[in-house]
Amino acid sequence: MKKVVKFGGSSLASAEQFDKVGKIIKSDKDRRYVVPSAPGKRFSNDRKVTDMLYGCYALAEQGEDFSKELEEIKARYDEIIQGLKLTLNLTADFQEIEKNFKEKAGKDYAASRGEYLNGKVMASFLGYTFVDPATVIFFDKNGNFDAEKTNEKMSAKLNKIEKAVIPGFFGAKSDGSIKTFSRGGSDITGSIVARAVNADVYENWTDVSGFMVADPRIIKEPKSIQTITYAELRELAYMGASVLHEDSIFPVRKQGIPINIRNTNAPDDDGTWIVESTAKKSKYTITGIAGKKGFCCVNVEKDMMNSEIGFVRRVLQSFEDHDISIEHVPSGIDTMTVFVHEDEFISKEQAVVSELHRLAKPDMLEIEADLALIAVVGRGMKSTRGTAGRIFSALAHANINVRMIDQGSSELNIIIGVENRDFEKAIKAIYDIFVETQI
Ligand code: ASP
Repeated sequence: MKKVVKFGGSSLASAEQFDKVGKIIKSDKDRRYVVPSAPGKRFSNDRKVTDMLYGCYALAEQGEDFSKELEEIKARYDEIIQGLKLTLNLTADFQEIEKNFKEKAGKDYAASRGEYLNGKVMASFLGYTFVDPATVIFFDKNGNFDAEKTNEKMSAKLNKIEKAVIPGFFGAKSDGSIKTFSRGGSDITGSIVARAVNADVYENWTDVSGFMVADPRIIKEPKSIQTITYAELRELAYMGASVLHEDSIFPVRKQGIPINIRNTNAPDDDGTWIVESTAKKSKYTITGIAGKKGFCCVNVEKDMMNSEIGFVRRVLQSFEDHDISIEHVPSGIDTMTVFVHEDEFISKEQAVVSELHRLAKPDMLEIEADLALIAVVGRGMKSTRGTAGRIFSALAHANINVRMIDQGSSELNIIIGVENRDFEKAIKAIYDIFVETQI
C-alpha cells in the first residue's frame, strides 16, 4: 500500500507537534510520501509563518529594512530544530532568502519559503528524501496549474524514491519563477502527489477529526461525518464548510483515490472519508448543513414573462455585463428572482437596475438585502421521503420565514433562503430535527 500524508500548519507549529507527526508517520510503513505546510499558529494569537513571510517581503519590496522580521521567522524554525535535536542548520538558506528578497524575487517566492524550509526540517527529522516542488509541480506562463505535465514529471520522479517529503503550496512556472496556489494550497499539493504515485489513500492531517454535520460555531459539539462523497463535499464547501481547500479534490477524484481527513491531536479518531461513491448510508439522512450570510435578491415581475422568449437571458445579461456572479434563480410564472452576493452587487446595483429596465422592461423590480442561504446536503435524501417536509416543518416550528427554496434535480441538496437574522436559528432547527431527534 502507498499512502500520501499531508500535515497542516497547526500540526507542524512546534517541535512538540512535529513529534506527534513523526509518531503518526512511523506507526504505518505505508505512509511514504509526506507533504508539509509551513508552521502555523502555536496558540490562538500567534502568527503563521506564511503570514510572517508575506509581511517581511512587503518591507523588502518597499526597500525597507526587513532583517528583524526575517530573524523572527528563522527563530520559529530554530525552535523546532532545537526541540527535535536535529543537526540541521538553515543559516545558508536564510542568507539566500535574504539575498532574493533584496532582489525582489516576488511575493509567491517569499510565501513558498515557509513550506520549503519546513520540508527540509521534516526530511531531516524523518530521514526521507527532500523533493523540491519547483522541479515537479508546474504552472504555465499565465500562472495556471499544468496538471498533466506535473503528473508526468512527478510520477517519474517519485516512482524512483521510496520515501519522500514534498513541501506543499507551490511549484514553478516554465521560466523557473516560483508560483503558489491560493491560501491553504498545501491540500492541493497532497492531492497532486497522491495522484502521481497512485496512492491507495490521501490522508489529510489537520486539527479537527474531519467534517462536522454543522458548523461548530453554531452547533455545540456537532456530530462528525464519517463518509461523504466528493459531490456532497463540493456543495458544503461552496457554502462555507472549510476543512479542505476546495480545489484539492480534483486530482484524486480523477483516480478514485479516497481522502481521509484525520486529527493529529487525536490520531485514533477515524476522521472523515471522502469518496467518489459509497453504499454506506449517512447516519442521519442528511450528510451536512452549511450556509452563508450576506446575499441580496432582485425580484423582477412582468406579465406573461413565461411566454416571452429570451426574457430570462436578458435579465441575466444585465448581471453578466457588470461581472456579477449569480447564485440562484428561482422563478414563478410572472416573476423571477436573482440571488447575488451582497458585497459584489451593492456598488453596482443602480447600473444593473437601469440595464435591467433597458433590456428586459419589467413591470416591477425590487431589491431585498440581508438574506442568508443554507444548503442541506445529503445523498440519502434521494431515497428518503419527507426530507423536505421535515426541514420546513422544523423551520415553521422555530418561527422562521422561508424566503426561497431551491432543490436541484440531483436531489443532493435543498437550498433555503432565510433572513440573515434567522440564519443561526434555522441551522439549529434543521440540525435538531435530523440529528438530535432522528425521527
Ligand atoms: N502555508 C500556506 C497558507 O497558510 C498554505 C497551506 O498551509 O496550505 O495558506
